[in-house]
Amino acid sequence: MGLLKIGDISLIQLSDIDSNIYLTDDTIIDSGTGFNSMRLHSVLRMLNTDLEKIKQVINTHAHFDHIGGNGYFYNAKILIHENDAAILEAGDLERSNAGFFEGKLKPRKVDRNLKEGDIVSNLKVIHTPGHSPGSICLYDEKRKILFSGDTVFSDGVGRTDLAGGDPQALGESLEKLRKLNIEKILPGHGEPVLKLGNKRIEFILKEFLQSE
Ligand SMILES: [Zn+2]
Repeated sequence: MGLLKIGDISLIQLSDIDSNIYLTDDTIIDSGTGFNSMRLHSVLRMLNTDLEKIKQVINTHAHFDHIGGNGYFYNAKILIHENDAAILEAGDLERSNAGFFEGKLKPRKVDRNLKEGDIVSNLKVIHTPGHSPGSICLYDEKRKILFSGDTVFSDGVGRTDLAGGDPQALGESLEKLRKLNIEKILPGHGEPVLKLGNKRIEFILKEFLQSE
């Protein structure tokens, strides 16, 4: 738990059930459950920023452990893939799996619906359905960094047995990621991969296909 710096990107880990939260400039990628706001406050303070200064929250998908904290960022625009946007806007407890976390989800207006190929602050949106219909990865081509949400972790793939999950789509998404030039993988949970990201994706894809 705590704070890890990866170049000028900060990885904030609030608890075992919160998603990883990444801070880059005034953008947050995923916001955690929202259960650990005191910890979030103190980490942001350590980073010489605060909730008010965050101008943009990009959600990699609409599961509760990634979106539950959106409400804290009151000055931020909310961005999410168009296929998952309705879950956020409705505060959909079922499709966000909020019940699993015993969480409450307030409806929140989506300011920008993302789709494949969009560019947001130098990050390219890669639509990678499988874990959820609107799952995305965010790709920094210049720095060869992939924010991978729950599509790929350091040691495997996101589960496909939740509402909207689709193993075949996940396989196709991994094939798509395989074509990118990736050094670092910054996933939605667990430890980041700091080098040889492509090799890791090859390995994970191979394991995934064998398990099918
Ligand atoms: Zn998820």
